[in-house]
Amino acid sequence: AKAAGKSAYRTCTPALRESAVSRAELIADLRRAVDEEQLRLEFQPIVDLATGAVRSAEALVRWRHPRLGMLAPARFLPLAEETGLILPIDRWVIHEACRAAATWRDRAPEATVAVNISAAHLRRPDLIATVTEATAGAGLAPRALTLELTESALIEGTEAVLERLRQLRELGIGIAIDDFGTGYSSLSYLHRIPATELKIDRSFVARLGTDDRAYATVEMVTRLAGAFDLAVVAEGVETERQHAAVTAIGCPRGQGYLYGRPDGPGTVGQNRP
Ligand code: C2E
Ligand code: CA
Ligand code: CA
Ligand code: CA
Repeated sequence: AKAAGKSAYRTCTPALRESAVSRAELIADLRRAVDEEQLRLEFQPIVDLATGAVRSAEALVRWRHPRLGMLAPARFLPLAEETGLILPIDRWVIHEACRAAATWRDRAPEATVAVNISAAHLRRPDLIATVTEATAGAGLAPRALTLELTESALIEGTEAVLERLRQLRELGIGIAIDDFGTGYSSLSYLHRIPATELKIDRSFVARLGTDDRAYATVEMVTRLAGAFDLAVVAEGVETERQHAAVTAIGCPRGQGYLYGRPDGPGTVGQNRP
């Protein structure tokens, strides 16, 4: 996905083409985006499939570009990763997500917030300090925060990265493996990574009604999670049929447009626990 993102930029994304904003300009703009408070978070609910109760919410970043309007992560995160600007963005996201989650506590004391962490950030020793400062600063229990890491980020996992993950676990932070099933995961790696949760990639959920292998995959990952005592979430549930299928399989949690689209504070307001 990373490589695709890069080439998408080289060949110009629609946003770039329409507005003739050069790559260099966009990098300069991105450099200012955090300081000038142009980033925002939207939250998407993660629900208990049996009851519909919102258990958690995933923070998804958006960039309100001064001329291009609201940009989705696919439009700027590849560039942020190439330039290292992903680090200040990730830090801002962690702090902002913890602040938001602290405001949900009265309504839903057990609710958690999930934040996506880039591969670059996982390689940095200061991730621990960032996370500790963000939770403590917001008055949020570390167990109310889950970091979502993709398989590709984890696969580069050196011993230092594994040690960092163990430290995060000791602090009580949750570790979710995002887009599970799309990377190069092997079963041996599930033994090494101190994960607490698997997120079944939405490509499998999308094919549930039409592809027996996709069904078998969702079933297998759900069982695997149960056997490893991990939480599991079916991503990208868009239809009642997909909801019925993941429920029949016994997957306990779901996320997707059917339950709630990512929306910003002050809009629908149903998305946070
Ligand atoms: P992801 O972590 O897999 O996040 C889920 C993506 O699927 C989100 O796209 C969400 O809007 C979308 N989605 C949710 N439900 C459905 C559904 O039912 N159908 C379909 N078709 N899509 C659904 P979004 O917000 O565009 O984010 C894309 C990716 O960008 C994320 O994928 C994540 O890898 C990355 N990302 C987003 N926010 C952050 C962030 O704050 N930091 C970092 N490092 N990466 C982020
Ligand atoms: Ca995610
Ligand atoms: Ca995902
Ligand atoms: Ca994804």
